[in-house]
Amino acid sequence: MSEPSRSESVALVQALMRQLDVRPEDLAGGVRSLSLGDFARASVLPALTAGQRRAWGTYINITLEGLAGLCACSCENCLAHMNGLGLYTPCECVRAGQCDCPSGQLDASVVAVTSCLEACPVLGERELSEITKAELTRVALWAQMRATKRTLVRNQKRAAAGRALFAHDGRSAVEHLRAFLSALYGFAMEDRTTGVTRNLALEIPRYARPEVQKRSYEPGRLEELWSALYTSGSNDVTLDETIVWFVLETAGRRGAPVQLRVGDLLVASLRVRLHEKKNKVDEQPISEALMSALLAMALTRGDVLASNPEGLAPEEITLEDVRTRRVTLRTDQPVFYYRRTRRDPRAPASGARVPHPLTTRRFNSLWDRLKRELPWLEEIHGRPHDLRKTVGTSVEREFGHATARAFLRHSAGGVTGTYVAAGPEETARAHGWLTGTESEEVATEEW
Ligand SMILES: [Zn+2]
Ligand SMILES: [Zn+2]
Ligand SMILES: [Zn+2]
Repeated sequence: MSEPSRSESVALVQALMRQLDVRPEDLAGGVRSLSLGDFARASVLPALTAGQRRAWGTYINITLEGLAGLCACSCENCLAHMNGLGLYTPCECVRAGQCDCPSGQLDASVVAVTSCLEACPVLGERELSEITKAELTRVALWAQMRATKRTLVRNQKRAAAGRALFAHDGRSAVEHLRAFLSALYGFAMEDRTTGVTRNLALEIPRYARPEVQKRSYEPGRLEELWSALYTSGSNDVTLDETIVWFVLETAGRRGAPVQLRVGDLLVASLRVRLHEKKNKVDEQPISEALMSALLAMALTRGDVLASNPEGLAPEEITLEDVRTRRVTLRTDQPVFYYRRTRRDPRAPASGARVPHPLTTRRFNSLWDRLKRELPWLEEIHGRPHDLRKTVGTSVEREFGHATARAFLRHSAGGVTGTYVAAGPEETARAHGWLTGTESEEVATEEW
């Protein structure tokens, strides 16, 4: 049989296409014209959970509509157009169409701009398949700029009142935006007609997480776990972060964050007292950063102030204030709280709302969410308790069995029963290594 000629081949293909109902334009990549906004509204927003919508609302709007009328300048005049909630009106420059703001203020912005007339890109109208990583990054920088500008506004008021300043750098704005975009690109990749083949959101540059994150899991795992705290649709990232951080540093058992009381925070010596099985109590060193986070959680969400003669606002109280007893705390109060309050259990009829302490239920739901996001967590770290094991394994690899046992507070006399007991000093060194607060020299020394 001879090879078909070129014209015969073309005719054959055309006949086949007619039979299969394929149009020539379908073969040209099969990509339809589709804006990011249309895709988001039709295929992404309806699939989000209520928690995701709540957490990402601001960032969904920024993605679809940009930040019309917001400038990136933080001179006094421009700051006066924003309030502490992040709501704003266009500054004089934007209204007049001309900007004479001091260049120093414009240069200091996280977004590279030269005048108030440059605005956040609007991605809603852009062709989804043509959006670049650079465009996404620019929107992320604008979201971060808005967050830092809002902090500046809040700090102006606080400074005027002689109060401690906030130091937010807007990183959680970037994380939230990234999380939403990542979900959007995930849906887009599943639909071949969008022409999207890569999750560009994951390529938006991000900030390094605290040092403690880096050492206890295999490389990359901890970063993923930390990132999942943001992407799994949490309605309270601060709470989830603090729980995971606490468990990682202290290798505490599941009940530990729930049982932790303010009196267990030994602020002066940077240790926490953990109530464990069979009424055993143990002390564990923690980093100053974690101690601050725990204290902030208790102060801003709980009702833990016993005396506060200078009338400091809960969010401005520092470790130093507690150490020097400028304020004193109610030692019997829990440390961890939900953001939402609850009806007063002692006077349900009064309608009064009181702080809602953490329950183990949150621990379970947090883990379920993380496992949905991270298949490997499902495989190896299926239970909250395993996080503790992971920490123990890392400590053991680096410091030996005795220290790991002391760190995890297993009672001596296990299967072989002849372990050398590790003292508090070794435990402290293991902790320093785990959190990166110990010098490298000490951490790698053999002992
Ligand atoms: Zn300005
Ligand atoms: Zn301006
Ligand atoms: Zn200006």
